[in-house]
Amino acid sequence: MVTLVRVSKEYLRGGTLVMALQEVTLDVSQGEFCALVGPSGCGKSTLLNLVAGVDHPTGGEILLDGRSTSGFVDRDWTRLRREFVGMVFQAFHLIPGLTAEENIALPLLLNGLRGKEVGLRVGECLESVGMRHRQHHRPGELSGGEQQRVAIARALVHRPQLILADEPTGNLDSASGAEVVALLRSLPQQTGQTVIMVTHSEAAALQADRLYRMKDGRVEG
Ligand code: ADP
Repeated sequence: MVTLVRVSKEYLRGGTLVMALQEVTLDVSQGEFCALVGPSGCGKSTLLNLVAGVDHPTGGEILLDGRSTSGFVDRDWTRLRREFVGMVFQAFHLIPGLTAEENIALPLLLNGLRGKEVGLRVGECLESVGMRHRQHHRPGELSGGEQQRVAIARALVHRPQLILADEPTGNLDSASGAEVVALLRSLPQQTGQTVIMVTHSEAAALQADRLYRMKDGRVEG
């Protein structure tokens, strides 16, 4: 589903070359819940950003669903993010002025979907993250754990095959964090979706089917 072949990423910072990723090779199968764990600065977010096409490798190749992305132009990445990938962030990134259901509907509206189908899909997603009773609440009226559930529903609403979660428990207490991880864990089991979660929480990482430890831009296995 997601294959990295000797992927490297270098940044030039103030005249110095920073090797954020060094020849990383890994293979995540469809329906796998995979965790990338490691200390701050080891390259976890960089790796996730490369898979999402937010940033591009300086070496190596990324294959998604068996297709090389090497020849991708911006439009291909945009389409991929819209159709294939759902993203979850540490800081939720919900729109404060919109209710839970409006936040969740947004990706569908941006994809051009209108009418009854939007309400149906949003309802389904609210249900699947256990937030139906909070559908009219704005993010400011929700706890951190609830906001992250809404953010996960928003990431799922266009039915992506791949979910990328960057420190999804980073802003949560341990109980809400465990609930959010359990929710992400349930996706591959229920829908066959693939989840890649970046975390520095050992407790979160231990829930994964597969755990990759990263250090200094390398994957240790
Ligand atoms: P992590 O997510 O594990 O904390 P990152 O992937 O954010 O690590 O960063 C890996 C390394 O790459 C760090 O040394 C970081 O400072 C550097 N880095 C990340 N993004 C950039 C950037 N846009 N410009 C320069 N250096 C960067």
